[in-house]
Amino acid sequence: MNDHHIKTVLSESREFPPPEAFQSRAHIQSMEAYETLWKASCDDPERFWGEQAKNLLHWQEDFTQVLDWKAPYARWFDGGKLNVSENCLDRHLDKLGDKPAIIWEGEPGDKATYTYRELHQAVCRCANALSDMGIQAGDTVSLYMPMIPELAIAVLACARIGAIHSVVFAGFSAEALAERNRDASAKLVITADALWRRGNELALKDTVDEALRIYDKVDKVLVVRRTGRSINWDSGRDHWWHDTVEKANADHKAQGFPSEQALFILYTSGSTGKPKGILHTSAGYLLGTTLSSRYIFDLKDDDVYWCTADVGWITGHSYVVYGPLSNGATIFMYEGAPDFPHQGRFWELIERYKISIFYTAPTAIRAFMKWGEDAIEPFDLSSLRLLGTVGEPINPEAWMWFRETIGKDKCPIVDTWWQTETGSIMISPLPGATPTVPGTATKPFFGIQPDIVDQDGQSLADNQGGYLVIRKPWPSMLRTIHGDSERYEKTYWSHFKSLYFTGDGARRDEKGNFWIMGRIDDVLNVAGHRLSTMEIESALVSHPHVAEAAVVGKADDVKGQAIACFVTLHDHELGDPALNQSLKDHVVQHIGALARPETIIFTKALPKTRSGKIMRRLLRDVAAGEEAQGDMTTLEDSSILEDLKESSA
Ligand code: ATP
Ligand code: MG
Repeated sequence: MNDHHIKTVLSESREFPPPEAFQSRAHIQSMEAYETLWKASCDDPERFWGEQAKNLLHWQEDFTQVLDWKAPYARWFDGGKLNVSENCLDRHLDKLGDKPAIIWEGEPGDKATYTYRELHQAVCRCANALSDMGIQAGDTVSLYMPMIPELAIAVLACARIGAIHSVVFAGFSAEALAERNRDASAKLVITADALWRRGNELALKDTVDEALRIYDKVDKVLVVRRTGRSINWDSGRDHWWHDTVEKANADHKAQGFPSEQALFILYTSGSTGKPKGILHTSAGYLLGTTLSSRYIFDLKDDDVYWCTADVGWITGHSYVVYGPLSNGATIFMYEGAPDFPHQGRFWELIERYKISIFYTAPTAIRAFMKWGEDAIEPFDLSSLRLLGTVGEPINPEAWMWFRETIGKDKCPIVDTWWQTETGSIMISPLPGATPTVPGTATKPFFGIQPDIVDQDGQSLADNQGGYLVIRKPWPSMLRTIHGDSERYEKTYWSHFKSLYFTGDGARRDEKGNFWIMGRIDDVLNVAGHRLSTMEIESALVSHPHVAEAAVVGKADDVKGQAIACFVTLHDHELGDPALNQSLKDHVVQHIGALARPETIIFTKALPKTRSGKIMRRLLRDVAAGEEAQGDMTTLEDSSILEDLKESSA
């Protein structure tokens, strides 16, 4: 059985307690406080969640039961009624009406601010306009939009009338949009004429027109004028936002909907296969995002909070829109790319808006490192007090860089582990309490009971790598995969009886910190040792010339699998045979002879999902000398595969 465990080879001894200045103002200020609360929350989860739901949410009718669990189907807060948009807006108006809710900047530099009162009015108008267009509670509305305030407005307006939103990232093709419209039975698409991306217009409305030729059961299209380009117009079907929404009545009473009212469908990133249409419902999701935003981002009245994720991903749903607004926070939203018109664009924005909390992804951090410190140096980042990351395991060297270069050694980093399916953050430091260590997401959040188990579902000892599972249902968990309950049961609940299987591998160290080791599907098996992709990649990234690395197994007669590494360099020209050899030695020196790479392939870019995650499954095919197989609809740039085939030939 031993050889089923994932062997850990990474050792990390740097540990950073919360900075005193941060700690003394934090919501939770010590590990004792965290541990007491966490233990109480897990001793009696239903009591804990019931109390939190009463304290943190505004109910129109009280719930009568906290949890109804007929594995693997959960119902939370039955009997209760609330309105998610009322929780994010109306309830703040008395005290926070004049506080900015959204501060926004577009790529060309245009600006907008919405106070809570203005955002409330805009959402009410949109809700009335959607109802006038025939959208009813339970209907699905598809959103294919730029990162502009109207996107958040549309999301909240759907929630307000009980319609289900399905946000499709605006970089997807017409086929991908049509497929999602079909799967979700969308009645209406909300879009814009175009969006700005690196100085170019990305013609969204044209793509919607094409998607509607492929799947034509969408009755209406609502169009925001963003760039002003000329577009085709179907007068029976298309409506301008400024003619409908902006002219609608700004009075709208928020009706209470049952706790389990469907809130949204959202498709996963597609890192491991065909994207899954994850269904989330209202009260439990709102509770999970509200509670986690409050404690993990330690939100304070005067914070200006920036989560760089697009609303097309779960991070944008939970931590751009719902969680922060439910807490009455000020969010910053930006339309464009981080490197346009210059590679310091994000730092310029942090300086201009005095951003205090900055939440981004490892893929972005590795790009910032590659662009170098000259892009950062001109800007004043002293407003920052907290940093966060999500999306992939963060390589310790990237974590250290983020801490030192962006956080100037004074900002805690919250490395937050969670999934589209979990709805809210499951494992993360609490920034005023938890000592952080580069590479670990540290401890479970309140009410969450993760564990590491072997293939029989037995808990593993400290430092043994195995399957990451969650033992008890939690309010913001997915309810099913839309239209495919069989896949829901099979993907998450068939591996282990009554444990939620995450698909990730992990270990827990002797201090109780969780280390995510990568996808179980990606684990390598070298001469009987199961090795984590993340650990070998992190060893490579710690070499001064390496920007990014992806490691996959390649069939080998002797060892079972040999290690193939795809590596991008800060300077691609340096990729010569001598560096190839020195990278192999570097891995051996950091990890041991066991992990000696058989091949290192220098490449200009790695294949990634549109949410920025490395797609190792495609690299496995390339390493094996085969045509890449499987779902490629979420691949960011398919030309990379051609380049890779050439570099590895
Ligand atoms: P698909 O499920 O379609 O393959 P995906 O899993 O990439 O795509 P998401 O729900 O966007 O879709 O991503 C969740 C996954 O991202 C997690 O299961 C985990 O592998 C990874 N992840 C997210 N945050 C972290 C983190 N802080 N540390 C390590 N891994 C993370
Ligand atoms: Mg996944």
